[in-house]
Amino acid sequence: MNHSDEILSILREEIEQYDNRTRCDETGTVIEVGDGIATVYGLNRAVYGELVQFDTGVHGIVLDLKRDSVGVVLLGSEDGLHEGSAVSRTGRAADVPVGDAMIGRTVNALGEPIDGLGPIETTERRPIEREASGVVSREPVNQPMQTGILAIDAMVPIGRGQRELIIGDRQTGKTSIAIDTILNQKGQDMICIYVAIGQKASTVARLRGTLEKYSALDYSIIVSATAADGAPQQYIAPYAGAAIGEYFMSQGRDVLIVYDDLSKHAVAYRTLSLLLRRSPGREAYPGDVFYLHSRLLERACRLTPEYGGGSMTALPIIETLAGDVSAYIPTNVISITDGQIYLENDLFFAGQRPAINVGLSVSRVGGAAQTKAIKKTAGTLRIDLARFRELEVFTQFSSDLDKDTQQALEHGKRLMEILKQPLCHPMPVWRQAVILYAATNGLLSDVPLDRVRDFVQKFADSLPDSLLTEIQSTGTLTGTAAEQIREALKTYKDQVSAAWQA
Ligand code: ATP
Ligand code: MG
Repeated sequence: MNHSDEILSILREEIEQYDNRTRCDETGTVIEVGDGIATVYGLNRAVYGELVQFDTGVHGIVLDLKRDSVGVVLLGSEDGLHEGSAVSRTGRAADVPVGDAMIGRTVNALGEPIDGLGPIETTERRPIEREASGVVSREPVNQPMQTGILAIDAMVPIGRGQRELIIGDRQTGKTSIAIDTILNQKGQDMICIYVAIGQKASTVARLRGTLEKYSALDYSIIVSATAADGAPQQYIAPYAGAAIGEYFMSQGRDVLIVYDDLSKHAVAYRTLSLLLRRSPGREAYPGDVFYLHSRLLERACRLTPEYGGGSMTALPIIETLAGDVSAYIPTNVISITDGQIYLENDLFFAGQRPAINVGLSVSRVGGAAQTKAIKKTAGTLRIDLARFRELEVFTQFSSDLDKDTQQALEHGKRLMEILKQPLCHPMPVWRQAVILYAATNGLLSDVPLDRVRDFVQKFADSLPDSLLTEIQSTGTLTGTAAEQIREALKTYKDQVSAAWQA
């Protein structure tokens, strides 16, 4: 037999056996079931992450491979399951339906509708776990993703394809920032996906109501695994959300995905790991908890035009305890994201809302993507605020201050004032640019402090439309436009200053 015949016969043999190896009708039996975990005997060929089906119709995911059994997490109720129940392989990884029909809908972690609006007509499915895009297909972040929140767009700019962490204690406005960002994407041709992990069903319903009220549901999808759902659902929900997002990204569209929140996600994974008897490490988390979030967040990216040019921006949320950012999960996630927005309790209760701590918040890549008009006008904002914070501490107890210090303090107070922003009022670029221009150039120094916020908003409203559309469409603030703002501000001040005296 010559050499090529030999190769041929080996190949033939391989092909004949191919069927055997991928045969999926293999069945096993349950040895033990409880706490949402089943130990199954006989699924010798099951692979990690594979979907299996129990004889009650419930699905499960293989998450543990042992010598003579596999550990399966249940994606549904364990009712009716007992020792000896049959389990069969499906031969495919866990996946979710994807498609345009999902827009506007609320689905569970398996992509099934839970909003009572009928079935979702999709034709495609995508595995929930997928390797992130490689280096070749990625492009640097260079297009802004406007959040509509002045403090963020001015000082912690986010670009499309970036991963920016929102971190803070409970009830400091983390979710609100994500929601305002979603509201601001109206008309920006962005698909928004909100993944709720381990939250109360009522909170998710309220959030859906808010999105509906501001007609943001037309471009949003909610993936919800509430506190009432099991740990397995909470564990897979963010991956399912990412899979849905990747579908749109592969169509060349821009996607924004919010994971609210990854602390609860880590806890769900810890529950599963402990039940699967994996050895606990620091804070009882399993050793691979780092990989849990890195593989999720790596999937956010901006693709090159050859790969469709889509993008997926991720806003993961982490809840801290008593402001401790050096706990295990927060440090992990901080290290894999491109920056963080740090929300602080003290600021929140002092009425500075959104309670963004400017000193501790950073964006490592977004600067390259910042809109020019804002970049130009926000120039000294960060430094001025840092100086203000320093002075504020030093001068707390002294009464007679020199003029310079007094001026810096007054300036700082006005800057803090303009950064306050009510809920559900995202600002367009032009408004941000106008307000920043007036504030950073010290043009508000003669406006009484308690009137500053009202004053700048009304002033912005009074500007001629032509100017606004120019700033909005070009994204820049030309010298003549700046001059126009100065002029208008002077006239507007003359108009209203009479009222101040009264
Ligand atoms: P949790 O830890 O419960 O998830 P959270 O950090 O997500 O809380 P939110 O639910 O966003 O916080 O907000 C908490 C409360 O603060 C809400 O009642 C919200 O109305 C209020 N709030 C948040 N941001 C602002 C704001 N900019 N202006 C006024 N109120 C705000
Ligand atoms: Mg929240």
